[in-house]
Amino acid sequence: MPVRRRSAALIAFSTLTLLGATVTALPAHAAQDQVMLATTCSETPRDLPVNQFTDHRELGVELDRIERVSGGRVEVEQLGHSNRGRAIWSARVGTGRKAVLLTSEIHGNEKTGTDALLDLLDWVGTSESAKAERWRSELTIVAIPKMNPDGAELDRRGNDMTWQEVTARFPQLRGSRPAWNYYTRSLQGDDYSARPGFDINRDYHPNLDYVPREEDFPGTSAQTGWYLSPETRAVRDVYRGLTAEFGEVDTYVDLHHQGACYVMPAEPDEFVTLSISGRFVDDPATTPGLEQYADRYDLDYSKRLNVAVNNALQAAAANRPAFGNITLYPQDTNLPGTGLGSFALNGSGTVLFEVRGQTQTLGQQHRAMLVRSVYVGLDGMLSSIASGQVNRLDPADYDRIPPRGPNIGTGGADAERRVDDPRVDVLEH
Ligand SMILES: [Zn+2]
Repeated sequence: MPVRRRSAALIAFSTLTLLGATVTALPAHAAQDQVMLATTCSETPRDLPVNQFTDHRELGVELDRIERVSGGRVEVEQLGHSNRGRAIWSARVGTGRKAVLLTSEIHGNEKTGTDALLDLLDWVGTSESAKAERWRSELTIVAIPKMNPDGAELDRRGNDMTWQEVTARFPQLRGSRPAWNYYTRSLQGDDYSARPGFDINRDYHPNLDYVPREEDFPGTSAQTGWYLSPETRAVRDVYRGLTAEFGEVDTYVDLHHQGACYVMPAEPDEFVTLSISGRFVDDPATTPGLEQYADRYDLDYSKRLNVAVNNALQAAAANRPAFGNITLYPQDTNLPGTGLGSFALNGSGTVLFEVRGQTQTLGQQHRAMLVRSVYVGLDGMLSSIASGQVNRLDPADYDRIPPRGPNIGTGGADAERRVDDPRVDVLEH
């Protein structure tokens, strides 16, 4: 169960305030978490700064630096280019037999994952501790931070690609209707009519050799994607390469943000810091067209990985109560076109991180705490894989993680549209 010490901290805070004491009398974390107290919360898009997050140019500089100070332990490689020609990089560290693939910022307005990955690569590349040695000897970690750099530079969800560019690359689609996940309207405060793009986290297919076919369009959220975008193809190629090298990719993690205004189910004045999940698709054994993946699909392993994440955060909540506000992401999604869905069908254990607030609703608020929550969760999971402890965890503990409470936000145009939009999931995950 989550450690519950925040209430005490808040009482202390209130008392001190009444007595005229300054906030600096409080432990810094308690004061910062106080800001998280739910009173009102808005998901209306705002023009908020993101300059404390790592942009694409800074990412290149930082990866270079990490490669250098790691003495070659971290190998940085350019995988290819985004649709607008920006480099997509991977960073690989470790020589172990278990391959772990980590991606961030597939949605460009979900930036904490990139900073957490840089912190992680820096540590595992340079630490001489026994723990780091074990990670490097047991694991081969491949991180692809900021995999959608065009969306990231625009601080928006979608990439920057038109349907005309797709049909130029895939002439067999010239008679097709555009894919259902092609944005040409206003969304989350971004005007896609002037600069269209795709939700590329619906562009994956569990068949890693899939080639787009006219009859598969426009598709739906319950169907597989197509590898239309250069960004998803770059990740697919890494996944396929690791599968060839290791037989399977042990674990795949994708780092996201969700709405800013979800509260804990039993504590309506506390916001959810992070929702996690290991379940993204219906059981392939009973899903027409996906039966061939049933033998490889391993939901229990994904549950164990999520338990390792949750355990680490609950332990850290002793010092930082907000880390205890962890819930399960909704468990009724069926999204085989997501990276997590497609790679789970290929047999990888899968973990979704959804930290609080898109960058246009929270901006840089809570940045350090949210980045740290991702780091702590990843650290616990990787340690558990490296030690083998993950195999002794009980998948039933996953089902005991509380569900997300209600969204208490005041909403915005997009939140209202969510109610009757059949493409409801375009705004989440
Ligand atoms: Zn997302």
